[in-house]
Amino acid sequence: MSSVYEVINPATEKAVTQVALADVEQTDLIIEKAARAFESWRHIAPADRARLLRAFATVVSAHREELAELEIKNSGHTRGNALWEADNVANVLNYYSAAPERLFGRQIPVPNGIDITFKEPLGVVGVIVPWNFPMPIAGWGFAPALAAGNTVVLKPAEYTPLTAIRLGELALEAGIPEGVFNVIPGKGSVVGNRFVTHPQVRKVVFTGSTDVGKSIMAGCAQQVKRVTLELGGKSANIIFADSDIEKAAANAPGAVFDNAGQDCCARSRILIEKSAFEKFMSHFEKAVKNFRVEDPALATAEMGPLISKKQFDAVSAYIDNTVAFTGNAPTGPGFWMAPTVLLPTSTAAASWRDEIFGPVVSVMTFDDEADAIAKANDTEFGLSGSIWSRDSAKAIRVARAVESGNLSVNSNSSVRYWTPFGGYKQSGLGRELGPDALDSFTEVKNVFISTEK
Ligand code: NAP
Ligand code: MG
Repeated sequence: MSSVYEVINPATEKAVTQVALADVEQTDLIIEKAARAFESWRHIAPADRARLLRAFATVVSAHREELAELEIKNSGHTRGNALWEADNVANVLNYYSAAPERLFGRQIPVPNGIDITFKEPLGVVGVIVPWNFPMPIAGWGFAPALAAGNTVVLKPAEYTPLTAIRLGELALEAGIPEGVFNVIPGKGSVVGNRFVTHPQVRKVVFTGSTDVGKSIMAGCAQQVKRVTLELGGKSANIIFADSDIEKAAANAPGAVFDNAGQDCCARSRILIEKSAFEKFMSHFEKAVKNFRVEDPALATAEMGPLISKKQFDAVSAYIDNTVAFTGNAPTGPGFWMAPTVLLPTSTAAASWRDEIFGPVVSVMTFDDEADAIAKANDTEFGLSGSIWSRDSAKAIRVARAVESGNLSVNSNSSVRYWTPFGGYKQSGLGRELGPDALDSFTEVKNVFISTEK
């Protein structure tokens, strides 16, 4: 039996629309359709597949305002972010549209013949998307998967299905054949789990919580199914006394409160060198108090509400008696929370260790380079992080020593679609984006051709 989900605007708590949730039988029918479409999609001439992906990108760009409006209403994303997110889908499609014509194999020297390798598509790829960045995270999965000749079934998060549904329609409008890119709204325990158990889904790309990621990895093991995991983070923003402290402080709120802190790359642990603590905190307090938390539809908004009451309650539970100061937030309906700065007294504090996934940051001091590295690495996670220093040799030494997949020096940016993105330790498995992502959507086939008489 299928059911219906009522989408709620998190900024107003008003109902937006209703979405039908697929059951297992409906999911199976779509997976079978994607498996049939694979037989023709994989054989489309490379230049034609490239043209179709570019056409898809063009249609997405033409609808960027509409997609952004949907994300503002459905997810409470700020207008600036929502437009960036729609553009990111188009950019990633354009980037991977270059791939079909460049999916090179190799010719490897061997005795008595010729040896060549092919990068073959896997078949149906299942993409499971969380609610925090519905558009970009979907695109990072489906664009390279389609470029490599796979077909895709995509499950948006239950909270945030609207942009994914629209992207499915836009793909058809762009000429992507029926069955190649399929969006299936439904519950994780139903549709997402079916991607794991259905033998015709040959790979699962999952982004979300570490606990669900572990269960997906265990489930995929039953069929030795390929899996990519992008999980949680507790990233450090390491600020040395020799850095431009004012700049580091001015940028620190955006590095953790962007998307209301619901970001796996959020720099939710600030490590500040002891001698610069007072100076940093005075600039940081000004920046936090000026951080604009307001109606996300406004062009000036820097932060909107949390996604749900459930998330609001989960985040609130971390706010203890170590609050240094807070920023501002609207009152009234909506899941609003003011940016909050904590000063935990121990690295054992839950607020220091857990991924809070909300607008809460913890600040702690360090003594020297070795202490900064040790504190940064004292976590089960390893997704991103920043290093602020004017001593570039030191910054590079620290970047090499922090166990994390994505580090920035004198910057807090984590995601560039040209470069690989993914986690160390329990932050994930595999890499998305960049030139090598195609490898996670292909099998290498080796063929030997004898030249013996
Ligand atoms: P989640 O449960 O891991 O959900 C992520 C996606 O997986 C959603 O599409 C979800 O579907 C689906 N899913 C859930 N259970 C599944 C299962 N058994 N099999 C297959 N798919 C399944 O994350 P959440 O509950 O939305 O958020 C909880 C916490 O996870 C957050 O507070 C945050 O700490 C973390 N999180 C991290 C990221 C990240 O980017 N690293 C993203 C989101 C959340 P439904 O929406 O239908 O449940
Ligand atoms: Mg969940």
